[in-house]
Amino acid sequence: MQRSYAAGFAALGLAVALGISACGVSQQQEVQLGQQESAQIQQQLPLVQDAVINQYVNALGNQIASHTSRADLQWQFYVVNTDVVNAFALPGGIIYVNRGVLERADRMDELAGVMGHEIEHVVRRHSVKQMEQMQGANVGVALACTLTNICSNQAAATAINVGGTAIFAKFSRTDEVQADEGGFHNVMSAGISPNGMLTFFQKLLAEEQQSNNSNVSSWFADHPGTQDRIADIQRMLAQVSASQLRSLTTDTQAFQQMKRRVMSLPPAPRQTTSGQ
Ligand SMILES: [Zn+2]
Repeated sequence: MQRSYAAGFAALGLAVALGISACGVSQQQEVQLGQQESAQIQQQLPLVQDAVINQYVNALGNQIASHTSRADLQWQFYVVNTDVVNAFALPGGIIYVNRGVLERADRMDELAGVMGHEIEHVVRRHSVKQMEQMQGANVGVALACTLTNICSNQAAATAINVGGTAIFAKFSRTDEVQADEGGFHNVMSAGISPNGMLTFFQKLLAEEQQSNNSNVSSWFADHPGTQDRIADIQRMLAQVSASQLRSLTTDTQAFQQMKRRVMSLPPAPRQTTSGQ
């Protein structure tokens, strides 16, 4: 918990140090902010260190990102060593995918769907736009809250709620729908089937409904409107011709090899920063 406070206040100092104001965030500031946030996050969250897994996730992420309008960013991908199903994007192209996502993805296109979605948040500068709508100093705190679980901790949320206003808005439903739509096209541009996006969301929904699994619940807390979004993806899929769908990749040996390594890792450490 104290580490969570530290993250919040360090982020506050960071925003001040970078001179970020409500006036606008340049790409250079965006990248710098992402890098510094990333350094903080890596002190807080355990990462999977396995080289094969990391290389695979970076190769797949870069394959997708290189077909977007922000191919010029230095995209980096990390795997957080937690069973909680989630993923998040930092400004500037640094993306964290939780081990829980890799554990539940049965095919390459399912993992690609999640990554395509997160990549689209960066392409559309969603966190930057959120920052631009806020008052300067609150930006870093809100960003730390948006990007990690720390604000689901009641005490941390209270501590950060300094000005009496809730400043830790998550991405809006509109942002999420845009990230799905963009992510759908991002994976297709990379030659990957967008069907995995649908099957992965359906799988999470089924798991949530059956077992109320807390590892899955955090996904639904961070990604509201999953049922509507599934319908949206189905609508987009219906517009892709059967022959085009058949021409896209759904799975690879490299994915399955990576997946076997994930399943052979020692158990993930228990999370300490999630809500109560
Ligand atoms: Zn999202």
